Amino acid sequence: MRILVVEDERKIADFVKRGLREEGYAVDAAYDGEEGLFLAKTNDYDLVLLDLMLPKLDGLAVCRKLKEAKVKAPIIMLTAKNTVRDKVLGLDSGADDYLTKPFAFEELLARIRAMFRKTEALTPTKLKVADLELDLVTHKVMRGSKDIDLTAKEYSLLEYLMRNQGTIVTRTMISEHVWDIDFDTFTNVIDVYINYLRNKIDSGFKSKLIHTVRSRGYILKEE
Ligand code: CA
Repeated sequence: MRILVVEDERKIADFVKRGLREEGYAVDAAYDGEEGLFLAKTNDYDLVLLDLMLPKLDGLAVCRKLKEAKVKAPIIMLTAKNTVRDKVLGLDSGADDYLTKPFAFEELLARIRAMFRKTEALTPTKLKVADLELDLVTHKVMRGSKDIDLTAKEYSLLEYLMRNQGTIVTRTMISEHVWDIDFDTFTNVIDVYINYLRNKIDSGFKSKLIHTVRSRGYILKEE
């Protein structure tokens, strides 16, 4: 899952970015409204964290413009203000949720997870393909009765493949949802990570779940 953080206070932006990356999310940051709007329209984010008070273009304007541009990523507004009027304005402008600063990082994580659950009503807390199971809350992964120990990046890649089970995902799609803007698409990092996952998910099991689709990408499905 790839998240955009739009926040002009660098300390907060960096703290949130670092924390979310540790959780396995791909994260980009923008430090003013115009940059945020540009990135959100250019890239395919799964979620936008948007500060209300921003230089160049404030959060409400960014939010409205994103909705006008039919950007589908849900938006969580971050704000130091906590008045009813601001909340109403934020929600009217199209924000999907609201978080008042200062917030505990755990609360931000809970809101993000809740937002992903809301947008994917069919997969409340667990993703399943054959005997492979991924718990979106605890990040626990099991194949049959075997515990699978994944790094944050491997988990993130597997989650993306499982959310798109039965569908071919290209390397571009993977790079856009699992890696951040600094990712060099000309490297073979994705293939390397797919191999890590194969070793952990498929190796030693009779039926393989991760399949290569020649010259197109990968697909996760039961054979
Ligand atoms: Ca601000």
